[in-house]
Amino acid sequence: MSSQTPSTPERDATPGPPERGDFIREIVAADLREGRLDTVVTRFPPEPNGYLHIGHAQAIWLSFSIADEFGGHYNLRFDDTNPVKEEQEYIDAIQADIRWLGYDWDDRLYFASDYFEQLYEWALDLIRAGKAYVDDLSADEIREYRGTLTEAGRESPWRERPVDENLDLFERMRAGEFPDGSRVLRARIDMAAANVHLRDPVLYRILHAEHPRTGAGWSIYPTYDMAHGQSDAIEGITHSICTLEFKDHRPLYDWLIENLPVPSRPHQYEFARLNLTYTVLSKRLLLRLVEGGIVRGWDDPRMPTLSGLRRRGFPPEGIRAFAALAGVARAGKVLEVEMLEHAVRDVLNRTAARRFAVLDPLRVVIEDFPEGVVEDMQVPNNPEDPASGSRPVPFSRELFIERDDFMEDPPRKFFRLAPGREVRLRSAYFITCREVVKDDAGRVVTLRCTHDPATRGGDAPDGRRPKATLHWVSAAHAVPAEVHLYDHLFSVPYPGADGRDLFDDLNPDSEVVLRDCLVEPSVADLPAGETVQFERLGYFCPDPDSRPGALVFNRTLTLRDTWAKLQAQGRADAG
Ligand code: ATP
Ligand code: MG
Repeated sequence: MSSQTPSTPERDATPGPPERGDFIREIVAADLREGRLDTVVTRFPPEPNGYLHIGHAQAIWLSFSIADEFGGHYNLRFDDTNPVKEEQEYIDAIQADIRWLGYDWDDRLYFASDYFEQLYEWALDLIRAGKAYVDDLSADEIREYRGTLTEAGRESPWRERPVDENLDLFERMRAGEFPDGSRVLRARIDMAAANVHLRDPVLYRILHAEHPRTGAGWSIYPTYDMAHGQSDAIEGITHSICTLEFKDHRPLYDWLIENLPVPSRPHQYEFARLNLTYTVLSKRLLLRLVEGGIVRGWDDPRMPTLSGLRRRGFPPEGIRAFAALAGVARAGKVLEVEMLEHAVRDVLNRTAARRFAVLDPLRVVIEDFPEGVVEDMQVPNNPEDPASGSRPVPFSRELFIERDDFMEDPPRKFFRLAPGREVRLRSAYFITCREVVKDDAGRVVTLRCTHDPATRGGDAPDGRRPKATLHWVSAAHAVPAEVHLYDHLFSVPYPGADGRDLFDDLNPDSEVVLRDCLVEPSVADLPAGETVQFERLGYFCPDPDSRPGALVFNRTLTLRDTWAKLQAQGRADAG
């Protein structure tokens, strides 16, 4: 950067390549380094009309981690300007979700509705300055008069209304004298502007609706454009970070800041929305899934909402790691959902305790193991983390193993248990299958096995090594559980694309419920939300509805990380 030519700082959100981090961090760093600002203040501005999803998590991470990194602070501000769609339930859930994600806004919780009086005063200022007028055109007429991208708009017949009449009508709009939709307040800018957002945009509309916070106190509500930048200015926001769909609104954002006596001069920067394959991330579509009964609620473990991901067992650390891995882009693209799963697996692999669970139990009787004897086997909690120690798991004569770990007539590449074959039971003994017992229908019900007492703990003194190691539970000690296996909610990467209905793309196997599972005793009192690895099966966590005597576990993820493979494929395709 040249030092001898002081010039107006470039405020566009598309400067040169980042020196470090993403392009928004680069802008913030330059603003501080070059003395344009001495602190950074950001905000997250959710509209309380639904639950937060993984895309919002990306926006929260971006705005909040930037403020943290540069020693500034961040605000949480509800953009509660549309009482028809907004509810207290959402206000509460959004706060709980952001806290869970790991961010704390201290006492800096704000609501756009806190500023309604001030915004109203500023609207009066605009009217007095001849920069706003009350328009009696209907919504349809306003749309018709607005023109198109190639054609200038037409001026409303009410555009030249005298100031006094505008003031009188606007005050009466506030007082509730007029029905919904009968009038609006519009900025008086330029009906021929190339940017349609500058063609006398609507600033206020009449809505006789009960607001969660202001009750019936207002009959008019500011639009997003009227509320957003001015709320930023009131709060001293320096970098107002939002997604690309607001880029075309930026000239209006700047016009309002320019033309109102606001206490500070915030700037807006845009980045591309996060999109994921096999996922929809629009509150409107998510609401359809909830209301259509496709899922059990906003927090269904198949939903990409933060409450759904939490219920599914995704740790907040994994979601933050994903946000950083996904990065911040100027142009939109769809990321593979496997990237999110990869980031979460990475965290869980390091942190999740290993436990034994058998999803489809097959009985094993160790004939030469004494009846009534119980041995506590010491099983490591997490081989990735030696400090996590080990736990005792009871072993006895009657066990259960996974049904698909046995084949009576195994093909060449099947190395697990089969008649006459020896395998290792993890951290216990080597066992050999001696006899297969079937019921009348020919279904295998019990394997009669023997064990080698010299292999206690899972190793043979003579160094022999079975080709397979199986997990197991003791029949007398295992605890019954229901297990829900989750997979992507949609069966295609771009749900609802190419004119298909979203509901036609649902994955019929997104939830598979297994009712006869068995878990080792220590799993019975895991707290909800604590994700463990059921060895060889995947990551699982207790559902919030899990109860002693009626345990329910949700599969967070399988163990197979397919992201690296997809990456390699992508490189091959590109090359
Ligand atoms: P949706 O389209 O899901 O209904 P929204 O943008 O209407 O979301 P808001 O509550 O207005 O929801 O969003 C709050 C903030 O979160 C906005 O600044 C918005 O830009 C950002 N945001 C919303 N969706 C995404 C996404 N998919 N990726 C990144 N940021 C997002
Ligand atoms: Mg929005």
